[in-house]
Amino acid sequence: MAANSIYRVLLLFTELGLVRRVESRQAYVVARDGDPGSDMFFLCDGCGAVTAIDQPQLAALLTSQASALGFRPHHQVVEVAGQCRTCAESQSIKEQT
Ligand SMILES: [Zn+2]
Repeated sequence: MAANSIYRVLLLFTELGLVRRVESRQAYVVARDGDPGSDMFFLCDGCGAVTAIDQPQLAALLTSQASALGFRPHHQVVEVAGQCRTCAESQSIKEQT
């Protein structure tokens, strides 16, 4: 399949809410059922795991802050880089030995 065809399919899936784009990694993850929430991702630097969560309160806070600034956001994404639990525990074990 041609790259531009794959991109169009991913764009369609994104519009349908089936996948979500991880902006900083130029990657996509499968969306959970009925997941209309803001895009908030935890990205592991160790294993590359991506965890997406719903955080409607954060989306409301960002919208409120944008409104206070007179800013009109068209898309909100929050990405948090760090270590997942597995990688953090693995590193902790290595440090103890
Ligand atoms: Zn990890």
